[in-house]
Amino acid sequence: MREQVTVRAWRAIRVVRALVLVVAGVLLLIVPWGANAQSLPDLPQFRARTENDFPRALTFELRAQASRPIVEARLYFRPTGASAWTSAPVPVERPARDVRLSYEWFTGNAAIPPGLLLEYYWRLWDQEGETLETPRYQVEYLDARFDWQRVEGEKLVVLWYAGDRRWGEAMFQVGRQAIERLEREFGITFGHPIRVVVYGNRRDFRSAFPPMQEWVGGQAFPQLGVTVQFIAPGNRAWMEEVLAHEVAHLAFARATERALVIPPDWLTEGVAMMLGSPQRFGEAQRERLRQAARDGRLPRLSFLQSDSFGADHQVASLAYLASWGLVDFLWQECGREGFQELIAGLNAGLSTDEALEAACGYDQEALYARWLAEELGVTPTPSASQEGSKRAQAPTPPPDQGEPAAQPVLPAAIPIPPRLLFAVVAAGCVIFAGTTVTAALALGTLFRRRSP
Ligand SMILES: [Zn+2]
Repeated sequence: MREQVTVRAWRAIRVVRALVLVVAGVLLLIVPWGANAQSLPDLPQFRARTENDFPRALTFELRAQASRPIVEARLYFRPTGASAWTSAPVPVERPARDVRLSYEWFTGNAAIPPGLLLEYYWRLWDQEGETLETPRYQVEYLDARFDWQRVEGEKLVVLWYAGDRRWGEAMFQVGRQAIERLEREFGITFGHPIRVVVYGNRRDFRSAFPPMQEWVGGQAFPQLGVTVQFIAPGNRAWMEEVLAHEVAHLAFARATERALVIPPDWLTEGVAMMLGSPQRFGEAQRERLRQAARDGRLPRLSFLQSDSFGADHQVASLAYLASWGLVDFLWQECGREGFQELIAGLNAGLSTDEALEAACGYDQEALYARWLAEELGVTPTPSASQEGSKRAQAPTPPPDQGEPAAQPVLPAAIPIPPRLLFAVVAAGCVIFAGTTVTAALALGTLFRRRSP
């Protein structure tokens, strides 16, 4: 009996305690609502989210509540750091004060790089024609099949999943040193970090992109500030060369992002070779170029200005070496300040020849001829000189008149070079036709296609 009373008392206490908790909880809920109950909740209200289905699509979703029915909507997005927004109309099925909107961005056939950081916002119109705008959001379009790790700095983000933390930090270190050197040498600064995405093996890497040629070992997207490649964890020598070279490419693209012309290949590859190579350009390299000149295999200026060094490894290897030699010569000849002036000239809208002339006092043809004579002791053959001259006089087309892209997006392809080429070409980043010229454009085209 006494036992029973005690049990009942405890039950009563529990019930009272539970009631107190419930009442307190209800009060907690009521108080903030009570404060607002007098006035309408602040409108508009937005809840934005994204759905990652890499590499097929990225879906943007928005729930919006407004004081008047929403009748029209548009999504704006761009890679962080890009100047132009892409805008896509998003249908509002039934005008209402509370709407749910969705836009699916199909990326499957476009080789949109994994790790791309996008910013976006929504703009809505209500039935009175008032415009409502959401805050700006960011979304990182990661390859969700892997568990990415990251080392993040002010100017560089390295993303990887194969290999431990120390490996990631080693990669970050290599990239950071390349950036610091580029800043020091060229006097450039970075507003947005460069993003380096590293797959652990070829199969994983290839599965992230539409079908590509067997030899492609990486894709650089200079205009997006992203480079993607596969590097087996622990392969340090390869990692150092590839990363330094590719980061130099992205950094140089960023340094010249306001230019109206695409800098010629000899300049961009030469800079990447100069900054990415563990050794300096020296007598061994010079001798190889002299030998090539004697054999009539030295690349002409027109070839070095093209946007591809081709698929022939021997030819490409010499073209890299010659580009490196030209940039090294220009560096000695025109100096750091001259180089910085050259970049400033390009950014001010000059052609490559005009910028070179303003900064160093000679155009590409004269540079090439002097390099041959003074550095290699070679007299240019009439045909080489003629062809160089023809090319040099031809105005470099502005980006919007470049040749149409063969594919929607043309990122720079980085092949895995055979050992022979690798020994000569520090990082082996052969860029195939039209890459840098059309990458930005192609992306624009793609975006426009997605948003008719
Ligand atoms: Zn390269």
